[in-house]
Amino acid sequence: MSGPIAWQNGSAPTPFSRPPKTRPTVRTKPFKLDTRTSQHVQVKQPASFGPKSSPFQRKSWRAWCRIRAWLPTDLSWTASIATHGDVRRNAFHQYYAEFCAHENTLAATLAGSIHTDVYYARARNYPSALEASLFADNVPTSVYDNLIAAVREHLPSVHAYFELRRRKMQIDEIHHYDTYVPILSDVPSHHTWDQAVDVVLASLEPLGEGYCQTLAKGLRGRWCDRYPNQGKQSGAFSCGTFDGDPYILMNYKPDVLNDVFTLTHEAGHSMHSFYSARSQPFQYYNYTIFVAEVASTFNEQLLADYLIRHADSKSERAAIINHEIDSIRATIVRQTMFAEFEKITHAMAEAGEPLTVASIKEVYHRLLQDYFGQNFVLDDELQLECFRIPHFYRAFYVYKYATGLSAAIALSQRVMKGGADELSQYLKFLQGGCSKDPLDLLRDAGVDMTRPEPVRTALSRFAELVQELDTLL
Ligand SMILES: [Zn+2]
Repeated sequence: MSGPIAWQNGSAPTPFSRPPKTRPTVRTKPFKLDTRTSQHVQVKQPASFGPKSSPFQRKSWRAWCRIRAWLPTDLSWTASIATHGDVRRNAFHQYYAEFCAHENTLAATLAGSIHTDVYYARARNYPSALEASLFADNVPTSVYDNLIAAVREHLPSVHAYFELRRRKMQIDEIHHYDTYVPILSDVPSHHTWDQAVDVVLASLEPLGEGYCQTLAKGLRGRWCDRYPNQGKQSGAFSCGTFDGDPYILMNYKPDVLNDVFTLTHEAGHSMHSFYSARSQPFQYYNYTIFVAEVASTFNEQLLADYLIRHADSKSERAAIINHEIDSIRATIVRQTMFAEFEKITHAMAEAGEPLTVASIKEVYHRLLQDYFGQNFVLDDELQLECFRIPHFYRAFYVYKYATGLSAAIALSQRVMKGGADELSQYLKFLQGGCSKDPLDLLRDAGVDMTRPEPVRTALSRFAELVQELDTLL
């Protein structure tokens, strides 16, 4: 369904009214190769590097895909959420046994992927694979380094949360397979679709009447394909277009509180698309991944704040707080550990150090020790996790999850505590599309991601939530 276009501010944008994107062309010049050299670089790609290039590596890559396909999704899911500890433990060991049996192949495939990143960065004159990867978003490496440093500063509160989990679960020692099982699953939740829309809209009131009215019309109208259906794709996503409505795919289940969070998340993406498309000419309307998750997780922050304030009981309040804690842990802390792993292993390749099964696992083990703390029991198999994360074969992407949520937490607090100026700056960010570099768009909205403060703010909130959960349980 494509409805009539309701232009923001009453008038359509004028396409091509701005100068073409010349700045990126100037920036990329030092790293551009002439056609002949570029062909040479492609031909010379070392046969043993790329996971999909040489016959050996193609075989390795297929093995990697096969292992993931062999392993039932249920097994990793069971290892995460089964309420009985023995079931979780057995599922965990069974799941990783397959990765253990193929660790040489997997290590060679991962090393190949890392060497390929290093090779292309060098061939195109970038100082490092990390800098080559951050170049497109014009993000300095200090953003990446600040993220890691700020998360490391706050690791004691992450360790305190694991200890709190251990106590609440009444277990003697805590393992990785004990970190996802819900510890407050006995709190019932039920929101029909209409109730979920009402809650989402009430929580988004700080964003003003214009935002809420547009969203209300969309969600109560035909923006969203709501419920699970036979043959329908699982999960949820939002898809925006330049000259039509933004559409949302949901598989909404009334008894799952997380689905209300998913709804406001996808609504955040849709409203970002709506504002960008109606405020920018075509070439600037499509926002980058770096800022995309800010608009969606911003809405989740407002929803969590609303639900915590309107909770009817201590246990309901605790359940929402726990949801928030787990979201920060999974999105900021865990993804930053992944980001640090990518940085270290690429630096090893650049320094000519061997990337073997043992050396890669050792790096990962050291990170697990730091991020999970000394009271956490690390099963040997957990080191194999570094071979099974798909993002590691497409390096330097996951840090955007962590910076995105950090920016969203900082901006949502700014809007909730601020006035008309703070709101107007945030709405301008939503209207910005890709008309500026992501860091400039965020800076104009009031958050400077080149400084460690936004990540610190997010993790201070994490520490406060852990303390509050401790007093509630
Ligand atoms: Zn999203």
